[in-house]
Amino acid sequence: MATDVVPVLNERIQTSFQSGVMKDRRIAQITKRIRDGTATMTDGHDYAERLGENLSRALTSNLTAETLPDGKLYYNIAKRTVTPALQNNYELTNEVAADIQKIIDKDAGIGLGAVKADFPEERVQGLIDMMTKEGISLEDALAWLDEPIINNSEAFFDDYVKENAKVRNDVGLKATITREVAFNCCDWCAELAGTYDYDKAPPDIYKRHKYCRCIVTYKCGRKAQNVWTKRQWESSPEQIEERKKAGEPSRVISAAERAEQANLIYRDMVTSTMESKDQRKNNRKYKRMKPEERLSAYEKAKEKRTSGR
Ligand SMILES: [Zn+2]
Repeated sequence: MATDVVPVLNERIQTSFQSGVMKDRRIAQITKRIRDGTATMTDGHDYAERLGENLSRALTSNLTAETLPDGKLYYNIAKRTVTPALQNNYELTNEVAADIQKIIDKDAGIGLGAVKADFPEERVQGLIDMMTKEGISLEDALAWLDEPIINNSEAFFDDYVKENAKVRNDVGLKATITREVAFNCCDWCAELAGTYDYDKAPPDIYKRHKYCRCIVTYKCGRKAQNVWTKRQWESSPEQIEERKKAGEPSRVISAAERAEQANLIYRDMVTSTMESKDQRKNNRKYKRMKPEERLSAYEKAKEKRTSGR
């Protein structure tokens, strides 16, 4: 029987990851801010993102055609390398988030502990399944260790925010969720940005598409407030309603709504887990376009598909 390569691979991945993290200046800055008692929730997001970037690099540099048996990423190798590595990012993210939480709570006079979010078993398993799908090329398999690792690591912090905002809202503290759009992200994210009362936050508030670096945080007041009189809309209720309707096909729609639809289509494309290498290239192309350009490109492609039949 061939020797099990996983222990050696894990050791190499861990070494690469740790040395990457040690050299990461943003991580060093955040660690210092935690020590100084000046860290913010945004630091928490960025910490998770940086862990993701470092892990992605550690995985892609150590799982290669040369190191993998038969040059293939077998299921039992992916499962035993990628899952524990992500689990480690999950633990670190929750620890750091709790440390930051303590700093903020102290300033606000809140004496409530942090809650650890659940490890998203299903989401991670889905990722493993995608990269080990029957007949997948090594190149396509390794693409799942690229952006998706960063995205999943960011989501560990999103999960933390979601869980702790819920707990605090449940015990009667006033919680607000803020989504801040990352520079140069998409119109869909720009539309979603804002500060919302916990109960009134749009359902998509925690969602992120590929390459989305938007920041989702929450804030807690010591006393519960009447959510009906103290709304903090940055998006009006009407806008939210409009947003919900944007997907309905039968209405006559304005140019702005068409652009919004183009963004929704784009979002569906990038969040689709079934994308091929060509689609990935296409998605990158679409990402760089303005909404109007994107819609016309999309319609042209649709026309081409229809006429080709
Ligand atoms: Zn975004």
